[in-house]
Formats: sequence, structure tokens, C-alpha cells
Amino acid sequence: RMKEKWATTRPKHPPTTLALQHFDSTYSVQLGQLWPSVRAALLSERKYGALLNHFSHDASPADLEAQGCRDFITDTDTQAQLCSEQEPEVRLEEEDGVSLKKSHADQQLSSLRLSPNIKCLVFPRGNITRFKPAKPDMLGYLGYYLMDAASMLPCLVLDVQEGHSVLDLCAAPGGKALALLQTQSIDFLCVNDTSVSRTTRLKRVFHSYVPKQLLSKQKLRITSFDGTKWGEIERDTFDRVLVDVPCTTDRHSLIEDDNNIFSKSRTGERRGLPQLQLELLLAGIEAACPGGEIVYSTCTLSQVQNQSVVEQAVSLALEDRGIQLQVVDLRPLTHMFRKTFHFAPDLHVGEMVIPHLAANFGPIYMCKLKRLT
Ligand code: SAM
Repeated sequence: RMKEKWATTRPKHPPTTLALQHFDSTYSVQLGQLWPSVRAALLSERKYGALLNHFSHDASPADLEAQGCRDFITDTDTQAQLCSEQEPEVRLEEEDGVSLKKSHADQQLSSLRLSPNIKCLVFPRGNITRFKPAKPDMLGYLGYYLMDAASMLPCLVLDVQEGHSVLDLCAAPGGKALALLQTQSIDFLCVNDTSVSRTTRLKRVFHSYVPKQLLSKQKLRITSFDGTKWGEIERDTFDRVLVDVPCTTDRHSLIEDDNNIFSKSRTGERRGLPQLQLELLLAGIEAACPGGEIVYSTCTLSQVQNQSVVEQAVSLALEDRGIQLQVVDLRPLTHMFRKTFHFAPDLHVGEMVIPHLAANFGPIYMCKLKRLT
């Protein structure tokens, strides 16, 4: 909800207005006819999902289910649709080291492994009930964590398997890292964020949700390095790397003037975002082991911060570092969750949840890369 300032202290061009002007000029071109409806959704109250915390004794979804919530990930209707419907063929492209393999999506569905331990409850389409704050159990662990349900998708796409070592390069305040820990498959998790204050928030989140034995030094490392330098420190190491970069945080930029990336004083920082995102993604690619997988994600609709960054990173990884990457086709996933989220049609690389008034999640962009060398 909008936090109003006193009229006398409100600048003539508040950052939220500048953000809307910027989005109107760029997204009306990028999204065409879709923009008016996405715009209305972005300016309306967002929907949350409740990530269930398996480490809490209060993690029973019964109360939430009684209110009409359902776990969108394991929803049996979704699974039934998967088995019964025919899939179109997947596109074939090859350029600049970006290769997409042609195959039937139903073949790919069988290779789409979703952790059975990640559960996220949402209210049905059109239902705008708000979640109550989570309560602590007798040990103090909270039963669920509220976040944009579309933020679960990059975590699911990362496909964490038993024994994996995982790096979350820009991890604070920790929602996605918490979802990854729910898989209970990770052998070693490294969470990093350059912001010390946000890393402190992340630690608070972990202590409110995760038992101490899972936060031991053997299992978890928390750092506050500049992620762009990661490739210089630790290369060819992790099975999975999440690169959830800083971006123009479109929804936030439209509702909150404080600390807004569209404020005049932050123009340089905003213009530098695509370069920072590129450097972070390249560092994440270097940190993954050959055969490892990297997920790049943002919460902006901006093509310049999404597809362009991925395309440049794929080219530069090959040219400068000799690393060949494959862009993994995520359409089986978008098909699976099409009843819960609205996805942007026909992106060249990656997939994007776009806000919609009946399912007001996102924006979340994600692209998965596999290191071939
Ligand atoms: N993954 C987080 C989550 O799910 O809660 C959200 C991450 S947020 C989109 C982006 C984060 O990147 C911010 O917390 C910011 O402090 C961090 N960041 C910005 N520049 C960075 C850098 N050079 N290295 C590492 N982290 C950085």
C-alpha cells in the first residue's frame, strides 16, 4: 500500500511518478497491447504466496486450506492437466552460442523435477484475501514466509538435487534461499549479498525459520562480498548458482518513494544496472562447475535487464572465458503453472510472469543456463 508523505515535503516529480513515466514509454513499446492491463495490475495491490516452513511444528496448511488456499506447486489439478494435454513442439534456434534443443515438451516434462518439499499456498485467481502474519511454534519457528509466489519459480527451476552445493549470489533478505533450504537436499549452501544490513536481515530470517543444526559452518556459509568478483575467488565449484540480481524492482518503484531507484540522486546507479547484472551473471557462470546450472532472475519487465543481459553473458562467457552454455527451455514449467500465473508470450530467451489483476504476481523474469564446458 501507498505510504503517503505530507504534501509540503513531496517533491514535484516524486520517484514513483518518474518510474511510471519511464515504464509508460518503454513498456508500451515492449509489451504493446498487453501494457495497459499489466500497468493496472502493477498499480494495484499485489498478491502473496505463503512458503510453508517444514522446520516449524506449525507448518500444517490445514488452516490456510480451510480459507481456500492451495499449494500451487503440487496442486493435483495441475498434475492431471499435465498428463492429459497435448504439447506443441519446442522451437529450435542456434546463435551466438545459445542453443535450444528441439524436442516435444511432454518429453521434457518428465525431466522437470520439482522438489516435493517446496510448498507455496496461494488464494485462487480473483481472490484477494490477505494472509495473516505467521505465528511462531513452541520453539519459535514461524510456520510460513510471505513472498511473491512467482519468486518460487526461479527456485523450482534451479532444480536442486540431493547432495548439491549451491551458491545464492545476491541472497538478501533470503526468501529464495529459504525456499531452497526447504528442499532439504542441499549439501552445502553459500549465501552472499554485498549489503551488510540486508545480510543481517537474512540472518534474522534464517534464525526465525531454520533449526540451528542446518545453519552450521559445514552446511552454510554467509558472506557479504561483491558478487561481481566471485569468479576471481571461487571458480568451477557449485552444482547450482542462483543469480537474483538487483534491478529496477518495478512494482516497488511504483508505490514507494523512499529509497526509490528512480529518484534523481540514483540515476547513475539505475543506468548502471544492466552492466552490474551482466557482471553478476558472468561471475555466477564462472562459479558454477562444468555441467552445473545457473538461474538468472529479476523482478522487472525490462528487456534490457532481462533477455539482453542473458544474451550478452552467453556470448561473453564463450568469447572471453571459453565457457559454452545452453539456454534451457522452460516452457514445460510455464505450461504447468499457467493456471496460477500469467506468462509473457514468446520471449526469445527465458520466461516472465507478468502481473494480472486476477493473479497479481510478478513481474518475475527467469532464465536457466547449463554449463556445457
Ligand atoms: N534473492 C533475494 C531474495 O529472494 O530475498 C533478493 C535479492 S535482491 C533482488 C538483489 C540483492 O542484490 C540485494 O539484496 C542487493 O543488496 C544485492 N546486491 C547488489 N549488488 C550486489 C553485488 N555487487 N554483489 C552481491 N549482491 C549484490
